[in-house]
Amino acid sequence: MKKPVIAIDGYSSTGKSSISKIIADKLGLIHMDTGALYRGVTWYALQHCLNDNGQIDLDQLFSSFSNINLEFKNSEGTLVLYLNNEDISKEIRTNLVSENVSLVAKQKEVRDFLLQSQRSLAEKGGVIMDGRDIGTVVLPNADYKFFLTASIDERTNRRFLELKSLGIEAVREQVKQNLIDRDKIDSEREIAPLKQAEDAIVVDNSELTKEETIELILSHIQKI
Ligand code: C5P
Repeated sequence: MKKPVIAIDGYSSTGKSSISKIIADKLGLIHMDTGALYRGVTWYALQHCLNDNGQIDLDQLFSSFSNINLEFKNSEGTLVLYLNNEDISKEIRTNLVSENVSLVAKQKEVRDFLLQSQRSLAEKGGVIMDGRDIGTVVLPNADYKFFLTASIDERTNRRFLELKSLGIEAVREQVKQNLIDRDKIDSEREIAPLKQAEDAIVVDNSELTKEETIELILSHIQKI
């Protein structure tokens, strides 16, 4: 039997990636965290494409795509992102990247650059992919689509704890503001905005644990 293609979209810090990873392990699927790809391009831009004012020079970034090689490698069950053979899994979670990623991700050139690798991964089936536009743009024919949401306070708490566990300093109010800002830019952008696919199942996990969210998603997959 062909393994399914599952799209998980939703707001920042709803647990999309960690939930997708566990579901991938349970169902024997490949997991792709597409947010990490946008973060990887942003990290590259911050290292190599700054103008004199310390801002990202988008034109310079667009002409550098051929120098950007992003790859996920499996390290003891965890997918680690490499940029040109260098592990950048910690760098992409820094506040600097979080503050710049949505501006980079709203550029058509950047989205086009990352689209093909996302689609080709799903061609053979057996994939769970999480992001903002997976069910609407990247994989509109996915077998299952879910849209995750949760209250801003709950999401702030989760991101704050995640950063702490990575040893990254964070101020709760700033974490909250970054989530609000990113969700606004992501939802209002012209190309592939964050929005629920018409045929997606909405999961509000404000009051659910990670395990309960996973059970709920699996119950839909096993039912159909
Ligand atoms: O999922 P994560 O919070 O790591 O994503 C970081 C950012 O990458 C998002 O805020 C969004 O700007 C961008 N993104 C996107 N499309 C995706 C995944 C992420 O625009 N499919």
